[in-house]
Amino acid sequence: MSKALVDVLRKNYENLLERVEKACLRAGRSLEEVKILGASKGQSEEKIRVLYSLGLKLFGENYVQEAEKKIKNLADLDIDWHFIGRLQTNKAKKAVAFFSTIHSLDRLSLAEELEKRARSLNKRINVLIEVNIGHEPTKAGVFEENLEEFVKELKGFPNLNLIGLMCLPPLTDDERKTRFYFQKMRNLFERIKPLVGEGFTQLSMGTSSDFEIAIEEGATIIRIGTLLFGPRM
Ligand SMILES: *Cc1c(COP(=O)(O)O)cnc(C)c1O
Repeated sequence: MSKALVDVLRKNYENLLERVEKACLRAGRSLEEVKILGASKGQSEEKIRVLYSLGLKLFGENYVQEAEKKIKNLADLDIDWHFIGRLQTNKAKKAVAFFSTIHSLDRLSLAEELEKRARSLNKRINVLIEVNIGHEPTKAGVFEENLEEFVKELKGFPNLNLIGLMCLPPLTDDERKTRFYFQKMRNLFERIKPLVGEGFTQLSMGTSSDFEIAIEEGATIIRIGTLLFGPRM
């Protein structure tokens, strides 16, 4: 590992931890309630290794093919790999094999395929439902008005362990709008919780540009790419 790279990534990670800690303090939350996921798409294996050595153990990938290579080459590390990108149904088999958790469950046909693949691997896979909280046509995710029904449908999938909700809110410079969407997610989360029960604990929201607001509004997993790793390749 080059020392220059270690120094840069250490500084990034320490700065991030400090900001996360401050946001937790403001929100009256404990640091243990918020997990940092390193969003490593387009980032080198070397950088992942460095961040791992600094203490980061949770990483998220967006593309199955890119992830497969990285996960194999980094198999000596005890990384918890999550899938956070758009998942094509024909990639469900590999996704189930390589990841502990899928953040982007957004349709019944994908649930069916994940269930089938998980069953044949005798595995229970953690899933979060992606919510299209801004009703954006270009984005994936279930609309909030269809969420309850989708959650009920997932009851018939014993190999899918529904642990929470995920979102990517509309891009805006207006902090009030971002906060509004995160609050909506928190309210949805509280509304769905009794329908699912015990294991429904995760709210995956917040990226480099808005993670502090997300923490203040209840995020339990923040997904940080560029702020940790620097620009993507
Ligand atoms: C890339 C990505 C992130 C990280 O975004 P940054 O702005 O680099 O922090 C988070 N979530 C998802 C779903 C992503 O695709």
